[in-house]
Amino acid sequence: MQIPTAPGAHLVLIHPPVSKPCEPPAGIARLAGYLEAQGVSCDLIDANSEGFRFLFGPALRFEEVGSPGRRGMYPAAEGRSERVKAPGETTAERNLTNLDTWTRRAMRNLDRHLRDLRSSPLYSQPDRYRRAIADLGRILACLPYRREVVLGLADYQDGELSPVRSRDLLAAAGHPEKNPFYPYFISGLAPRLAVVAPPLAIGISLNYLSQALCAFAMIGFLRTRHPQTRIVLGGGLVTSWLRRPHARDPFDGLVDNLVAGPGEEFLLNLAKNCGSGIREGGHHSGGGEIWDTMVSRDDNRKPAARSIQAPAYDMTVVHDTTAIHSDLVSHDAPVSRVCWSDNGAASGRAGLADNGPGPGWTGAEARPEVVSSCPDYRAFPGELYLAPGPILPYSAAAGCWWRRCRFCPETAERNPYRPLPAEKVFADLDRLTKEMNPALIHFLDNAMSPALLAALARHPVGVPWYGFARITEQLAAPKFCRRLRDSGCIMLKLGLESGDQRVLDALDKGIDLKTASRVLWSLKAAGIAAYVYLLFGTPAEDREAARRTVEFVAAHSTAIGFLNIALFNLPAFAAAVSGLATRTFSDGDLSLYVDFDHPRGWSRREVRRFLAGEVKRHPAIAAILRRTPPVFTSNHAPFTAMGGGSFTPSS
Ligand code: SF4
Repeated sequence: MQIPTAPGAHLVLIHPPVSKPCEPPAGIARLAGYLEAQGVSCDLIDANSEGFRFLFGPALRFEEVGSPGRRGMYPAAEGRSERVKAPGETTAERNLTNLDTWTRRAMRNLDRHLRDLRSSPLYSQPDRYRRAIADLGRILACLPYRREVVLGLADYQDGELSPVRSRDLLAAAGHPEKNPFYPYFISGLAPRLAVVAPPLAIGISLNYLSQALCAFAMIGFLRTRHPQTRIVLGGGLVTSWLRRPHARDPFDGLVDNLVAGPGEEFLLNLAKNCGSGIREGGHHSGGGEIWDTMVSRDDNRKPAARSIQAPAYDMTVVHDTTAIHSDLVSHDAPVSRVCWSDNGAASGRAGLADNGPGPGWTGAEARPEVVSSCPDYRAFPGELYLAPGPILPYSAAAGCWWRRCRFCPETAERNPYRPLPAEKVFADLDRLTKEMNPALIHFLDNAMSPALLAALARHPVGVPWYGFARITEQLAAPKFCRRLRDSGCIMLKLGLESGDQRVLDALDKGIDLKTASRVLWSLKAAGIAAYVYLLFGTPAEDREAARRTVEFVAAHSTAIGFLNIALFNLPAFAAAVSGLATRTFSDGDLSLYVDFDHPRGWSRREVRRFLAGEVKRHPAIAAILRRTPPVFTSNHAPFTAMGGGSFTPSS
């Protein structure tokens, strides 16, 4: 059957709420860079940061409760009868008086907090920083949404709707007016889209669980406003959903295409021919798996939920194990590595090293030949973000050069490692630095390769930077660490996971604790902050092993800048081969994790108790946690590490 197609569509790519509003979204910036290089322009909207700006904007302070279209933009005076307005008093002033003390103080300081978070000094004053973050959180918590909603700067929860249940996501789409960002959808998003000439195609980049319910509310809103518009949903979370065993398409009639993996070629096709090569026969010419959930708004065919083509490559990215399997990331971090993700996965020719990523490389082979382009951040004004200067997110490699850790999707899927050539990395950074004048570069690689670290040490980029690195001999050398620091390295995120050698070996982390110790001291001596990730409750761990982790951290507490402590979750993809007795956590059909019987009886409940009692209360660990930025965590920690002052690396 011939599917009707339109000539080229105008593309709008949107990053939905909620994720930390501190840096521009790398996923849609990367797509825009690719499309631009192919001669296709598109509009980018960071609906997350724009949404928060709207919620914290003038409407919050100066508009009256109940004004048409503005309802609910003023914090609720919880449980208090409202005082009658005094003569000459504005409604806003009256409302302020009706609030509790904390909320009132937070409201009064709102402008100052927003200003302070955009300047450096606050980051060297932990108490003031914590107060600012807590006050913003208080205001968000007090805005009168439905009682079931808990909105934070990095999180979104709904007591009635789950982001891992497709029927709940459809319910969110059915009632967008119940979402806290609905006023922004009307006053911010809709006018932006109204000026775009049809035919319009909207791509939504969904990477975090904390985005899911708001993304679907936004889709429901867009579907009502733009019934003829094609809506495409991609990103890390969508890829994870579609790659689960027995995955099905639950969004028939709402979303036109679900895209797993790379989205570049799909979107390019869409922009050039509005679906040609995508709908007919479900075939298209580029990487990525396309699921047609609804072929055409005018077409009554049954949905053709299918994977039509294995991805040509995976633009894998992100995080270390902690960021993959921990409780802490369930709402504020990418759920999976993959392509159309906010980690702005790179693709490119094998590079950086002549043969592999550098000293000690024992991981996967690098694979060559994927087209790459430079991400385009020009659509995102720096003032949108809560940071003391523009942050430039950049990915120098797809995949992971180690690719051996157990329970990591990189290992399970054997995703190829694809580093960009060194000259490409430095050319991109040079161009982006000129365009953005960043205060900080955030390397998004799963683990920066030894070759990339060495290249940066040799050729400083002139801007402070940080990223994930594996614990290797290279970082144990004090001289090398000093060179890294001189090149602008402010902080390295290290997935230590455990202070017990047996657990590390069972996880195949490739980490030797003696080396880890030397790495921490060398980084400390060089002035590079170590942001250490710990993971408790893994199958090989027991209470004694967990205690050894606590001892290791305590012994190195003066060398550890910041800590992330997380509880292990078993990914669903690993359940079958884990040899563990597993069961589902909930009836969520989109859940990515399963519960399991711990082989050593180290149950989740016991691990939680241990974390609360013996870990977080340990004086040395508590001190590190106190200086670890709440909510924004590693995204703001480099500014804390810079001590609020400016740091000028050599260039
Ligand atoms: S270092 Fe290990 S956990 Fe991190 S991405 Fe690579 S294989 Fe996965």
